[in-house]
Amino acid sequence: MTVSDQLLVRRAARLLQELGPRSRVVLSQLPLVLALTVVFTLGPASSEVRLRPGFLLGLLLQLVLAVLCFAVPWWRLGENAPLAIPIVDFVSLWFLRNGGGAEVTGLGSLAAFPVIWIAASTLASGWALVLCAVGPLAIVLPTLLDALPSPSPSEWTIFVSLPLIMLATAVAIRIAGAGLRVQERQLRAAQGHLHRLLERAEESERLLTGILDTAEIGIVAVSPDRAAARCNRRFRQMLDDAGVPSEGTPASLDRLPLRERDGRTPVPPDRQPIARAAAGEHIDGEVVWLGPAGRARALSVRARPLDGDGGGAVLAFGDVTQLLEDVEAKTDLVRTVAHEFRTPLTAVLGHLDLALEAPDLPAGLGRRIGLAQAGAERLLRIASDLLTSSAELLPLVPSRVDVGQVVRERAESALPAAARADIAIDLDVDQPLPARADPFRVGQAVDNLLSNAIKYSPSGGTVTLSARAEDGWITIGVADTGMGIRPEDRPMVFERFFRSDDARRAHIPGVGLGLAITKTIAERHGGELACVSTPGAGSTFTFRIPAAAG
Ligand code: ADP
Repeated sequence: MTVSDQLLVRRAARLLQELGPRSRVVLSQLPLVLALTVVFTLGPASSEVRLRPGFLLGLLLQLVLAVLCFAVPWWRLGENAPLAIPIVDFVSLWFLRNGGGAEVTGLGSLAAFPVIWIAASTLASGWALVLCAVGPLAIVLPTLLDALPSPSPSEWTIFVSLPLIMLATAVAIRIAGAGLRVQERQLRAAQGHLHRLLERAEESERLLTGILDTAEIGIVAVSPDRAAARCNRRFRQMLDDAGVPSEGTPASLDRLPLRERDGRTPVPPDRQPIARAAAGEHIDGEVVWLGPAGRARALSVRARPLDGDGGGAVLAFGDVTQLLEDVEAKTDLVRTVAHEFRTPLTAVLGHLDLALEAPDLPAGLGRRIGLAQAGAERLLRIASDLLTSSAELLPLVPSRVDVGQVVRERAESALPAAARADIAIDLDVDQPLPARADPFRVGQAVDNLLSNAIKYSPSGGTVTLSARAEDGWITIGVADTGMGIRPEDRPMVFERFFRSDDARRAHIPGVGLGLAITKTIAERHGGELACVSTPGAGSTFTFRIPAAAG
């Protein structure tokens, strides 16, 4: 059987399966009824033949079978009950063939119809083949019996060939049917497997959507081409909160109205977090503003590429608007307090200066005024640090300077403090080191790094201060042999007001602003501040700014 034949048979079988039991029985009997009608309408049998009792009985049986096909409630009976019809068909054909006499020929071959019906049924193969052989054999048996005791070769041929052909037909149908049944079973098993997989996938999908939608952070998953994107309910809510239409979200996800952390600079499409994440970039806690001013929300973004061949990435957005507002309010308060401190402190220092200049000042009182002055100066420095600890309040007055010279001067002014702490300062400074920079701010940065190196080193230590020009940069290095910084503290040391537990526990004075200011100074010059440290062995801070061109 060719593939197209198999498909045809399978389609016919499926069609039969879809029909009701009665329609199946009627359709199975119909070919024989039609064949008989054709034979009797066109056939040569005379009216005399048609009136013979055997022949009439055969016809009557066909009539009864036709009525039974319609009348019997086959759906209530067993699966093989309709096979009674083809079996009785054999009987009917027996009467038609043998009751009509010699004029009626070829009716035996109509046994092919009940044979096909039985062979294609679900009856056990043994029984089906016995029926398919015995039925036709019985139909042609009278021919042989009539010819006995000496049947001619043609009579033998009739007797043997019809049952044999019918049996062969039944075997062929059975084999084809078995193949079809195996394929059907495999198909059904595969369908069942697919169905179970689909159910499991749908269940996982429901679970995942449930988890994502209960999360308090906005989550977005994107494919590498950004064509397919999915986001959870919280992210859509974030878009709504910021007044960004959340409908049609996937297509517009990489063109969100985003601004940088400063709240002003728009983020261009190719720098938007979703575009960068889809390109495989890791993002760690970057802050962007989403939405128009007035309704904008501050979002902290993290992104990780997805493992596997498919690529793509997942982004998590946390709403940090309240946090930033709180920090801003705290910074404002600190700035206001610091500002209010400065004026009276300047007045106190002025008066203490005047008092120190008074003639005949008793020595003890002069020493006390000196101590008060040192304390007031320290307070004034802290107030200034608090005020300058944000980039906007750190104005630069750049000029062409020799950074080597600035570094040497600051090292010299740190010598008394170093001597008091029993720390040696090693200088390794090249000169000249020309740069376009603000000498006051660069000096302030060196002061901060040097005072930390001295503060956080035990007595007897050494601070190495170096400065050199390398690859278009001027690099100032401050290395100490002090307590060092734990790895978990290192990312935070440049944050405003951060102080390590080690520093607090050792009662080393400080407010946690020096490194933040130093970093701002480096960045305002287009440079950077970096740190490497080994706890218990020491730290090295590297301050870099661009060297002057030419
Ligand atoms: P402060 O020194 O006033 O606390 P900084 O901003 O200068 O503030 O430093 C922040 C923190 O970084 C310090 O509290 C200290 O824990 C750590 N740190 C800075 N410099 C050093 C250093 N040279 N050695 C060890 N720890 C340091």
